[in-house]
Amino acid sequence: MLPTLPFDPSKMLIGGAWHAAADTLTLENPSTATPLAEIAKGSAADIDTAIHAAQTALDSEWGRFTATERGRVLTRLGQLVTENIELLTQLETLDVGKPVTQARADALALARYCEFYGGAADKLHGQTIPYLDGYTVYTMREPHGVTGHIVPWNYPMQIIGRSVGAALAMGNACVLKPAEDACLTALMFAHLAQEAGLPAGALNVVPGLGSEAGAALAGHPGIQHLSFTGSVATGAAVQIAAGANVVPVTLELGGKSPQIVFEDADIGAALPFLVNAGLQNAGQTCSASSRILVHRSRLEEVTHEMVKAYQAKHIGPADSDPDIGPLINGTQQARVKTYLQRAADLPCLARIEAPASDGHYVPACLFGPVSPDHPLAQEEIFGPVQVIIPFDTEDEAVAIANGTEFGLVASIWTRDGARQMRLAKRLKSGQVFINNYGAGGGVELPFGGVGKSGHGREKGFEALYGFSTLKTVAAHHG
Ligand code: NAD
Repeated sequence: MLPTLPFDPSKMLIGGAWHAAADTLTLENPSTATPLAEIAKGSAADIDTAIHAAQTALDSEWGRFTATERGRVLTRLGQLVTENIELLTQLETLDVGKPVTQARADALALARYCEFYGGAADKLHGQTIPYLDGYTVYTMREPHGVTGHIVPWNYPMQIIGRSVGAALAMGNACVLKPAEDACLTALMFAHLAQEAGLPAGALNVVPGLGSEAGAALAGHPGIQHLSFTGSVATGAAVQIAAGANVVPVTLELGGKSPQIVFEDADIGAALPFLVNAGLQNAGQTCSASSRILVHRSRLEEVTHEMVKAYQAKHIGPADSDPDIGPLINGTQQARVKTYLQRAADLPCLARIEAPASDGHYVPACLFGPVSPDHPLAQEEIFGPVQVIIPFDTEDEAVAIANGTEFGLVASIWTRDGARQMRLAKRLKSGQVFINNYGAGGGVELPFGGVGKSGHGREKGFEALYGFSTLKTVAAHHG
């Protein structure tokens, strides 16, 4: 059951006011597969109204905010998020099926994004450019205008923090379409943004179906930038839709991220990262480390240690704070089960059984040794499934690591400094970690992919470039 909320979850925030939609959708609690709340089923017309409200905000109070004022409001928002950590955690646990500790980490990250972008808002400067005699030339960073944000269900708070946070810092007005499976923290964030004093229309939140509200947002001529996180197929579709209006798009689409364990690795240090980076959020993480590449000389040891670590893991309802909770919905559950059937030919090293429940649980499975071209070693499963792939040489490890269509995150476990530098260059990946993985969430670290993992960068200071455009001013004064 939902706790008492300071907002009506069946409404959407448009132009500073909460509106009902013509219809509603039912949110489900993934731990029990029972209805949780009714949310607005925003239509194409609601998206259109939200985009106009965002444009109005740019033409009025929000558009006149100085960079410092934008920073202050984001900082206040971060403080309010911090004061409401427990409610946000509870909502994410109920709505996404995310274990309590992991949901709390997301809420803390949301606060940190607001704090980071609040602090960064007035730190991005233009340049002066030496030019012809009699000229003064300088550049200015300006907001795109109205930005669209299409967010998935797996990390709503973190993804809203990194994209909406950076967009607001640069002075854009946002229209956010959360995933139909997970909307509550997005709505709570909108409520807190109002409390923090964000002017009407600077942030609009319209829940709804991807095929309806999402498609309307992606293809709307009134947006000037689109940030999308989700599947490759939908990412390609929204890019085409936005492209028809020549709207720039940032795509963050997932991966098949490897961790490479060399013969000189500190296995004790690596082990928690090898396992947890694959099982966190039940594997429903774009940067999940689903491939573990191990030098053959350490294969037996790594396999033994990973199996032991798996055996200590527990799957259960999210509110009991297990290691692994349910998947988001029945569709994802069926999808992962299909992958487990396709793994019938693979040696299963560990299998942690899911509880008998109507919730959307799947077993957590570790397979190995697995050939690098097996579908389980190539395709994004988005479930608690990892494969161990042995290798003999550094060149072979690089070829396997680079041998999928993705390139989001990679890590190298080795004490050899020259090898660390070589591989950091050779790996085709948006991020490379050396003797760690994920670096504690990395609010400050630019993030994004190559290949089918997408393009553009969010997080860190770098995101401010993506959420702004550059104007060159050339003055001839003689
Ligand atoms: P999806 O890509 O369909 O949905 C992501 C977001 O896009 C949601 O808000 C959805 O409403 C919206 N959307 C859907 N269709 C749209 C359209 N035609 N136009 C505009 N917006 C649209 O993802 P999904 O179906 O929820 O999940 C399926 C697969 O996507 C997963 O198995 C996983 O592989 C991948 N995924 C990746 C990430 C990630 O972080 N990279 C997140 C979620 C899902």
